[in-house]
Amino acid sequence: MNIPTVLCTFAIAIGAVITIAAGSVRPQRMPLLVFCDVGQGDGAYIRMEDGFDAVIDGGRDGRMVSCLDQYRYPDDSSIDLVIVTHADSDHYAGLINVYRRFPVRYTILPSAGSSDASYAEFRALVASHSAVMPPPQLGDSLRFGSAVFRFLWPGRETKHSQCLHDRNSCSYVHLFSYQDFDVLFTGDVTRKQLNRILLNNVQSLEVIKVPHHGSAGGLSPQLVSKLNPQSAVISVGKKNPYKHPDESIIRMLQGRTVYRTDSQGAIIFRLPRSPGQAK
Ligand SMILES: [Zn+2]
Repeated sequence: MNIPTVLCTFAIAIGAVITIAAGSVRPQRMPLLVFCDVGQGDGAYIRMEDGFDAVIDGGRDGRMVSCLDQYRYPDDSSIDLVIVTHADSDHYAGLINVYRRFPVRYTILPSAGSSDASYAEFRALVASHSAVMPPPQLGDSLRFGSAVFRFLWPGRETKHSQCLHDRNSCSYVHLFSYQDFDVLFTGDVTRKQLNRILLNNVQSLEVIKVPHHGSAGGLSPQLVSKLNPQSAVISVGKKNPYKHPDESIIRMLQGRTVYRTDSQGAIIFRLPRSPGQAK
């Protein structure tokens, strides 16, 4: 999609709402949210009815590109936004193929990144293929047409050195909202970070991406009760050495609809259409 007008600068103030105009709505387009089967890692794809599309993480290999080829609009050969939640290879390495294959309009990279040489190469690739936005601060929102990404973590007090040491805990946590459909993307944070996030306005989610591939420390019964997700998605590889997802997390999610990429492949949610949009 072509985004004709950028209505803002890249200077992000605290709590700022950044609005980037979407293109004209084309009829007969079905908005989707896809949790791609990228093995042991995260990779999600959002496409909207106005043509806007976004990638949140990209797994570690070529499976993300395969997923994009399957679910992008056939006439859309570019990606509008990529968000890298943190600088672990199971979240960014598969994006190398994405940048080599598709023009990417905007990219949000982790503020701390990683000192690994492979991440430095990735960062250079991104910088040469895309506009890199300043890292969003807690409370910032990005609006693309009717899609909104609200950034909830890391907090402003989070230290850069701490993030280099513990990348998981500094994953971006953001809420993707479209009409009444709310999805919480959690990267690889733990319940410790989620408990520190002001989740007062984040309740009754349609979907939660379960933190850290279902690792034991990702959720608590209290968090599940508070967030009250209808559905939970565990992005995880078959027979992974970490034994993700942990049984305790599965038990916490009893009564919810739980989807797993290791046993079900790509998990696809149809997003609601705009009022008046053709069915
Ligand atoms: Zn991970």
